[in-house]
Amino acid sequence: PKYVYRFSEGDKDQKDLLGGKGANLAEMTRLGLPVPPGFTITTDACRAYLADGEVPDELAVQVTTALREVEEELGRGLGAQQDPLLVSVRSGAKFSMPGMMETVLNIGLNDSSVEGLAAVSGDRRFAWDSYRRLIQMFGKTVLDIDGDHFSDALEAKKEARGVSLDYELGVEALTELVEEYKTIVREHAGIDFPQDPRAQLDMATEAVFRSWNTERAHIYRRREKIPHDLGTAVNVCTMVFGNMGQTSGTGVCFTRDPSTGRSGVYGDYLVNAQGEDVVAGIRNTLSLADLEHLDKASYDELRSAMRKLETHYRDLCDIEFTIERGRLWLLQTRVGKRTAAAAFRVATQLVDEKLITMDEALTRVTGDQLTQLMFPQFNGETDRDLLTRAMPASPGAAVGYVVFDNEEAVARAEAGESVILVRRETNPDDLPGMVAASGVLTARGGKTSHAAVVARGMGKTCVCGAEALEVDAEAKTLRVAGREEVLTGKDVIAIDGTTGEVFLGEVAVVDSPVMTYLRRGLEEALEAAGGVDTRELVTSVHRLMRHADKVRRLEVRANADTPDDARHAIHRGAQGVGLCRTEHMFLGERKRYVQNLILAGNQDERERALAALLPLQKGDFVQMLETMDGRPMTVRLIDPPLHEFLPDLTELSVKVALERERGTLDPAEEELLAVVRRYHEANPMLGLRGVRLLLTMPGLIELQVRAVAEAAVERLREGGSPLPEIMIPLVGSVRELQIARERAEAVLAEVSAETGYELAFPVGCMIELPRAAVSADTIAEEADFFSFGTNDLTQTTWGFSRDDVESTFFKEYLEEGVFGVSPFETVDERGVGHLVELGAQRGRSARPGLKLGVCGEHGGDPESIGFFHRVGLDYVSCSPFRVPVARLEAGRAAV
Ligand code: PEP
Ligand code: MG
Repeated sequence: PKYVYRFSEGDKDQKDLLGGKGANLAEMTRLGLPVPPGFTITTDACRAYLADGEVPDELAVQVTTALREVEEELGRGLGAQQDPLLVSVRSGAKFSMPGMMETVLNIGLNDSSVEGLAAVSGDRRFAWDSYRRLIQMFGKTVLDIDGDHFSDALEAKKEARGVSLDYELGVEALTELVEEYKTIVREHAGIDFPQDPRAQLDMATEAVFRSWNTERAHIYRRREKIPHDLGTAVNVCTMVFGNMGQTSGTGVCFTRDPSTGRSGVYGDYLVNAQGEDVVAGIRNTLSLADLEHLDKASYDELRSAMRKLETHYRDLCDIEFTIERGRLWLLQTRVGKRTAAAAFRVATQLVDEKLITMDEALTRVTGDQLTQLMFPQFNGETDRDLLTRAMPASPGAAVGYVVFDNEEAVARAEAGESVILVRRETNPDDLPGMVAASGVLTARGGKTSHAAVVARGMGKTCVCGAEALEVDAEAKTLRVAGREEVLTGKDVIAIDGTTGEVFLGEVAVVDSPVMTYLRRGLEEALEAAGGVDTRELVTSVHRLMRHADKVRRLEVRANADTPDDARHAIHRGAQGVGLCRTEHMFLGERKRYVQNLILAGNQDERERALAALLPLQKGDFVQMLETMDGRPMTVRLIDPPLHEFLPDLTELSVKVALERERGTLDPAEEELLAVVRRYHEANPMLGLRGVRLLLTMPGLIELQVRAVAEAAVERLREGGSPLPEIMIPLVGSVRELQIARERAEAVLAEVSAETGYELAFPVGCMIELPRAAVSADTIAEEADFFSFGTNDLTQTTWGFSRDDVESTFFKEYLEEGVFGVSPFETVDERGVGHLVELGAQRGRSARPGLKLGVCGEHGGDPESIGFFHRVGLDYVSCSPFRVPVARLEAGRAAV
């Protein structure tokens, strides 16, 4: 096989074979840009090496050929005594990948060629410094010697000479240092520093191959979901020197500003320096404008290369360059990394310059970038006192007083204070506190814990699973492991839901202009915008969102349980409600009505309990339907297990036992305990909930459907256009749905007859059990629509308790690469996703045109949205805050 490609042979589309760096070097060479001659050793060679543990035989031969061609082209020999050719060896995988061996410079220098370099450069100091650098880099990266040995020797030398900076060391000191470095190599690697230039080259190449499998590289690939079997390419490139005096230098430039996205070139330049000097920060960098004054010819050539590259790649490029004695060389280019703001601005700038189409512009931005632009952020410059770091559950930045319970959260928020609700974990009772607080911090629970899911739904900042916290809600104190202070309601903390950081004290927060745009529209956002950068950003976001709306096939609905949520969702562009979780309408003080229903001993008591609930539930629906007027609203009948409405078994048992002992026991308590015991389940999430509860608790379906129907009639009477859809949760068998449906339709018919309005609302079900997905063809016979509940479907497909696993063993699973990301966050395509696809196909095979949606958390996850588009769903439903992200991603999926 062909293992070696001259730069002049490849092109930018060969990233698999030549790696990113190699493919781009080849492309620049093809474009006629000044790239120092060289060649790329392919990823095939690396894979062969990794498989066999040795370098393939043909590689040595092919390297010789390529090297001789380069030597002939330049009229110089690798490591020759006179005018030696020197090369750099750099790794370059398909994806940029820190953690591997990066670079060895100055290969070819040895005890004799160093004098040859001194002669051609006319600078002995430079030559010996280059040799010194080679041994240091080679020792560290090829021979695995601890870098400290070299830097200690360097420091000692500077001290001995009474100087403080590297470049103040003279020739004599450097020749001494070279000898000392060689001794270090001998001592720690057990070999002499190789004097044979070709041996240096071959050893460096092999070291790059080997570095593919370092621990750091593995960890990085796991995190970034880069396959472990790609291998890396190796680039061998003629050395050019930026440290050959005042007419030399090195720099990095960008064709547009990668941090703000402002158009116009941008870059840094260092006179008389090599790349690593930039990192060492030993001299001040100059701007490109300064370079124009210093060396107009090189500057002009660089500008024209930048323009050429940007036109060619049709995107922002970054470029590494070196000027050697007035001659410009390009050493690397790539499509440049950029901030979220820059991504949006650059995309629309390129459209305006007619370099790309609007469709392409959509592919240049992501939902994650949009999310970043939506959250208020901490001003990173202030002094911050980090208390702990935990799971970033819902992004944003929140600052406030520590509060430990609902009452205090609500009271202090009403008094105008900003508060952070700090709990060991939250439960549905904490809702008012969460609404009132600026942010939520919990000591336990993962990304799908109650706190996390609810906070994300509300767009509220949340950090969860902060194990270092010791929350004492009774005493209203908060301690942090390893810290002295005891925090109380008088203390202020700041939580960053994007990084998971928790700080003590105030941290300044800056508002997001993109959020202003999404909430209040373009005009207001432009008005509020501070400067031209912000205005351009807001306009870019607006244009791309509009285009996404135009091209997407997926509808975007929202999960909303309250009129407030529904309003937020509409402002952000939701086309309906895909999931209204009606159990949320039974919490708080309404809980006791549900308890009465559960405890009802006879028909009479039950009817009274139901009658008390009806007006409450109906009132909610009237408001929701009014808010959603003319848009579909999927009402899901009650889902959670009964225990959520009943007292805790252990607590109640203890209480009853104590009271019995004291002789103060109320018989009602005892009765309650019996009921709690009867309904107690070891696995409530797999127990009496959803359709199972609806079918076995008399009157429940009738109550809920009647509330919807009467609310709809009320809206119709007022001239409204209510579009409710009734959805049955946790269906596993068609018979369950059939019974539920018959009972629902009977109520609809009843209310129709009572009021004279025709109420033929669709009745459908959630698909959130594997059995439902697999038998979707039979279930579809009874369903007007399906909505995939991927939270429960993930839970039941993997057998992962959604309330526990993320804070117990997921960390290890992620580290071990069982999955790259939690399946509760991004849909697991092979397993859960496969069931969704199967369910969709089977459902439609029985009922063509069956409406299909998804309403699990995944409906707002950028990657999952692409998947749902591909398998043909009609809509995604997500929390109101994520609606804009879903619109953008649905657009991206469609182009
Ligand atoms: C689901 O299971 O995906 C779903 C949307 O329902 P819930 O999260 O309320 O169980
Ligand atoms: Mg569910």
